[in-house]
Amino acid sequence: MPENKVIESGNALISALRDQLGADKVLTGADLEDKYYHIWKMNDGLNALAYTLPSTTEDVSVILKSCNAHDVPVIVFGGLTNLVGSTEPQGNEVIISMQNLNKIIETDTGSRTMTVEAGVVLERIQQEAKNNKLLFPLNFGAKGTAQIGGIISTNAGGLRVFRYGMTRQLILGLETVLMDGTIISGLKKIIKDNSAYDLKHLFIGSEGTLGVITKAVLKLIEPPQSRCSAFVGINSYENVIALLKHLDKGSAGALSGYELIWGNTYRAMTSPPAHSKPPLPHGYSFYVLMEIMGSNQEKDNELLSHLLEQALEKEIIEDATLAHTQSDLEWFWKIREDVHALVVQCNYDQHFDISIPISDIGDAVSKMSQELEKIEGVEKIFPFGHVADGNVHFIIGKVSEDTSLKNKINDVIYSPIKALGGSVSAEHGIGLHKKQYLALCRTPEEIETMKKLKRTLDPKLLLNPHKILDI
Ligand SMILES: Cc1cc2nc3c(=O)[nH]c(=O)nc-3n(C[C@H](O)[C@H](O)[C@H](O)COP(=O)(O)OP(=O)(O)OC[C@H]3O[C@@H](n4cnc5c(N)ncnc54)[C@H](O)[C@@H]3O)c2cc1C
Repeated sequence: MPENKVIESGNALISALRDQLGADKVLTGADLEDKYYHIWKMNDGLNALAYTLPSTTEDVSVILKSCNAHDVPVIVFGGLTNLVGSTEPQGNEVIISMQNLNKIIETDTGSRTMTVEAGVVLERIQQEAKNNKLLFPLNFGAKGTAQIGGIISTNAGGLRVFRYGMTRQLILGLETVLMDGTIISGLKKIIKDNSAYDLKHLFIGSEGTLGVITKAVLKLIEPPQSRCSAFVGINSYENVIALLKHLDKGSAGALSGYELIWGNTYRAMTSPPAHSKPPLPHGYSFYVLMEIMGSNQEKDNELLSHLLEQALEKEIIEDATLAHTQSDLEWFWKIREDVHALVVQCNYDQHFDISIPISDIGDAVSKMSQELEKIEGVEKIFPFGHVADGNVHFIIGKVSEDTSLKNKINDVIYSPIKALGGSVSAEHGIGLHKKQYLALCRTPEEIETMKKLKRTLDPKLLLNPHKILDI
């Protein structure tokens, strides 16, 4: 469209939106100066055509329908904590902020469900579940800011995926609005529903490219009554797997966390400038932080202690220490969760979030590390991960933000993914930043089918354009 037509269409859209929603829900110009597109870019101002603040599903429908009619692209803003550039605007978009769709509609303790609007922040959901003596098991570092709509749109994971699954496994129903304004309401509280296609799964993990999520029914669980943790030192990757199987079998499904930290990463997490002291001495090749959640603290502590004694006898592990008190528990988990302690040891940092079949992780990470060491400009290599889910994170410390250095590092980590049958994104999604690597973990036929789906639901390609797919 010629530029004067674009401006005309934008102006007509803004007046149409103000007429339908009210002027206070449609901000433009100087009112965007204190807005931002990511929590790490708060001081940059927001470059967009308009910033809308719907407070109902019908408002969202009006915005989408009008943008569709005027050929104006749209980006949905949740808590803006994504890690792949999936909320980055180009400047010509209408932003839909979900911050005012923030009601907890109902907590049903009998069905063990919670129905919420999409803008409710994760921490509030966790607290509401707790107030009702239930648990919403999803948990990760950005819980105080990430909204459930954004979490569903990125199918977020976190620390207990091994036991409770990704976000996808915790969603029973969704209400979604399509780009043409159609409201698809599927807010059932039922667990089993094989009545034809399960449409909610199209929108889960679609990073705001297929529809806007406005409400969700979440699955809650009975909270475990005990939490037991231990750190162990292990000298071979084979034994990391042997221990996982031993604990999983011995605890009959109570194993809820199995976090692997490579020896050099553990050293960096537990030596100055990091604040935590090491629960076990440095020097082992691998450290595993595990968690068992059950129904009786004393018995479960005994069970974990017994399983670890057996592992010592069988020479699967070299050393172990149990968390005996609440403060031990907090100390152990702070070591794993405080990834910032690694970031501050890097001049510049590059992060990865890959999936590899569990049996191949040891070998693959060792080869990747050797290749990374050969790259001039790489200073630190910190692997760690939710290994029971096949999810490996790397933080790479480097001398600069130089693009060719960044690409060389990307090549080392991503090139083996195809042959390994892995994924370039275990949790964080594709967004803008990983788009060029999508073909390493999806076949041409899969990508073509995704494009067909996108064209069907959003024929003018207006919803979060340029994200995930080159189309
Ligand atoms: C400190 C930190 C730790 C993190 N740890 C983890 C972790 O352990 N595991 C993990 O998986 N992720 C993690 N993340 C990533 C991030 O928190 C998740 O991706 C989160 O789920 C995004 O939610 P959000 O509300 O911030 O979404 P946003 O960042 O606002 O949006 C993410 C995407 O969803 C779209 N979107 C947002 N709301 C809606 C909606 N209502 N309808 C349709 N589309 C929508 C946006 O357009 C965008 O494409 C972490 C991030 C940080 C900063």
